[in-house]
Amino acid sequence: MSLLEVENLEVTYGTKNGKVHAVNGVSFDIDEGVNYGLAGESGSGKSTVAEAVLGLLPDNGTVESGSVQFNGKDLTSLSPTERREILWEDIAYIPQSAMDSLDPVMSTGAQIRQAIQTHRDVSKSDARERVRELFDIVGLDPGRIDDYPHEFSGGMRQRVTIAMALALEPDLIIADEPTTGLDVIVQDKIIDKILEIQERMDSSLMLITHEIGVIAETCDELSILYGGKVMEQGSVDNVLINPTNPYTMGLKNSFPEIDELADDPVSIPGSPPNLDSKPSGCVFQERCPFSTPECETEHPDFVDLPNRNHRSACHHVNRAATMRQDATEPDT
Ligand code: ATP
Ligand code: MG
Repeated sequence: MSLLEVENLEVTYGTKNGKVHAVNGVSFDIDEGVNYGLAGESGSGKSTVAEAVLGLLPDNGTVESGSVQFNGKDLTSLSPTERREILWEDIAYIPQSAMDSLDPVMSTGAQIRQAIQTHRDVSKSDARERVRELFDIVGLDPGRIDDYPHEFSGGMRQRVTIAMALALEPDLIIADEPTTGLDVIVQDKIIDKILEIQERMDSSLMLITHEIGVIAETCDELSILYGGKVMEQGSVDNVLINPTNPYTMGLKNSFPEIDELADDPVSIPGSPPNLDSKPSGCVFQERCPFSTPECETEHPDFVDLPNRNHRSACHHVNRAATMRQDATEPDT
């Protein structure tokens, strides 16, 4: 049994123009101690997956079908009280733009202390001591626990949110774009910090980011999302070194700084799919340079590739090597 098992998750949002089909049958497992990446461009459904897993969708969001098991417990059928206990205690969540979600009128230390005291029977002074320790762990000056959010820089505020998320030593940390908007040096430091702490606490990590370079550096396994569908998933080595899905190839290509990964010259012009109706064919077919008539009408099932731990949803998966070759050959 894996720590987190997400099976065929479907999520829609109700809007004044009808339903948005944001997540369309997503499945993945995260084992204990594994760093798992969820990658995909803006709008691919990454945050929606995280919020559905955590039961934190906004009011207009609905889990249409699927199951989410954490340590064998079905998270979708928990009462709000049970869910609150699991959140914090067992699963820590660092939401997208977490650093902007700190309470501006309460000192950072008091916010973390309150979170600790809500879940643990500890005195105020012991909880304060724990906050000092946490500040130290995330590389903040423990002497600053009484400072307010506006007194910290963006990178420091992100460290505060990480300290808060880690206060109860969770089994799973879900971090949604934890470094987006920070400069590259600070980004590296934050990622290193998350990894260091996660290793120390022996937690699993689900790292959500559109930057596959960050996933290549930090994760063991990943899923590539597009239009609310998993296009390719498996070990980072298999998926990012030998992608078989044209979307993964294109995504890799947009990160040429990952030298050894930048040999696939597939580009992906066009814009993300319209999610007003449930996709019938392959969600990527409109932008895919290798699309054929069946891609328009039939959604590709997952194909298990001969390498262990590598699956890809593409009608042309067995042509991946040829597709790369085709793409490198100049037009005649
Ligand atoms: P980003 O990288 O920009 O954070 P994402 O991959 O996290 O993107 P989501 O935020 O999960 O993407 O959005 C998936 C789809 O659901 C998008 O089409 C988005 O417009 C839509 N969506 C998200 N939140 C809502 C909402 N509250 N109401 C209606 N539609 C929404
Ligand atoms: Mg998001």
